[in-house]
Amino acid sequence: MTAHRERPYGWTDVAVVGGGAAGLSLAHRLAETGAAGVTVIEPPEGPLRPADRTWCYWHAGADGLEDAASASWPVLRVHGADGRPVTVDPAPFTYRMLRSGDFERLVHDRLTRTNDGRVLRATADAVRGVPGGAEVRCTLPGGDTVTLRARRVFDSRPLPALPPARTRLLQHFRGWFVRTATGRFDPEVADLMDFRVPQPARGLAFGYVLPLAPDHALVEYTEFSRHPLTVQAYEAALGHYCRDVLRLGAYTVERTEQGVIPMTDARFPHRAGPSVFRIGTAGGATRPATGYTFAAAQRQSRAVAAGLRAGRWTVPAPHGRRVLAMDAIVLRALDTGRIDGPDFFTGLFRRVPTERLLRFLDGTASLGEEWGIGLRTPVRPMLATAAELPFLPRRSRPHASDGESHR
Ligand SMILES: Cc1cc2nc3c(=O)[nH]c(=O)nc-3n(C[C@H](O)[C@H](O)[C@H](O)COP(=O)(O)OP(=O)(O)OC[C@H]3O[C@@H](n4cnc5c(N)ncnc54)[C@H](O)[C@@H]3O)c2cc1C
Repeated sequence: MTAHRERPYGWTDVAVVGGGAAGLSLAHRLAETGAAGVTVIEPPEGPLRPADRTWCYWHAGADGLEDAASASWPVLRVHGADGRPVTVDPAPFTYRMLRSGDFERLVHDRLTRTNDGRVLRATADAVRGVPGGAEVRCTLPGGDTVTLRARRVFDSRPLPALPPARTRLLQHFRGWFVRTATGRFDPEVADLMDFRVPQPARGLAFGYVLPLAPDHALVEYTEFSRHPLTVQAYEAALGHYCRDVLRLGAYTVERTEQGVIPMTDARFPHRAGPSVFRIGTAGGATRPATGYTFAAAQRQSRAVAAGLRAGRWTVPAPHGRRVLAMDAIVLRALDTGRIDGPDFFTGLFRRVPTERLLRFLDGTASLGEEWGIGLRTPVRPMLATAAELPFLPRRSRPHASDGESHR
């Protein structure tokens, strides 16, 4: 039997637990300031490390992530269930894709070039407050343990369970990187939501197409509903979409990507102790009504870095209360079937000026703009839903009367 040792690791200014979208974003912005030493704790290859994936977000101007971007699209399109397309110019925004591996390389390079930046390959087992900060107890790949002390700890490890919620939907999807025999895609146009797919009994479904070249694209089948599908069911839906809706002709699937993102009105406190903060999905960065997380993680990371430059620690919540209240209404209205999902999202793209809509979806629209957008949604069902929400308890598990049904 090997005897495992406890190794000392010392103090750092900031420990970031988990080097995924949120952890890397924060480490990147903090390292940029040069005002704090940063250690990112990321497990070695194994079950805790998520598979390679892509993160998309829209952004205006330069944000320092250009070198890691693998594609961007100046035109966005949505197809209604009736087949009619809405094509919009998102200027000043462009929609951009980062591959997780490229982003990781960019941030790890930056950390190794700064004096006090490092990546610790270890599994964090426990985080607890200590005088002057917090400590992270970790297990190294060989089994030895280390305890890292930091003035601030930002923890992005997934939560063991979702907090209590009134509505609990999932955005679940599978994607194929397809290569077609002939040029079938327009690399300028990203199809954000294509509702020309059969709709589930509850929730909604859409195709998502991100062209990388005329003969190469990431094509996804996505549902907002209560339960993920089996791999076979995703594959069948993707096959139908590629063959009968996109009419791709001959194609091969080079790689796949699959995921589940919580869409819920659960509360995710981002403060876990005097010196410990939760970030990323675990800290509430996932926008409940869209599943987008990356932009909020960027915004929060920039705010933390700006505070640090000004000599103070400020960690704003990733989303404002108003945004969360509106999303709770949208989620509940979708889940109860009071609004028709495809019509709701297509209607937003048809009726709201695109720049305003994208700021709204990012959670950066003004109060007046939010009201204006609210009036372009089905007002009666939204008001009926808003009126019932305050009386609904947040539950840890779905209630039998919520009518759970599996497809
Ligand atoms: C396939 C997929 C595609 C997505 N695409 C988009 C998109 O296009 N745009 C968008 O905005 N959102 C997208 N999302 C949603 C969201 O942005 C991602 O889930 C994002 O990765 C969440 O960031 P995070 O930092 O909270 O979690 P993660 O990126 O999952 O990072 C958590 C990190 O914690 C590490 N970890 C776990 N346990 C431990 C431990 N014990 N010790 C130390 N480290 C640990 C993991 O290795 C991981 O690196 C996508 C999600 C998925 C699953």
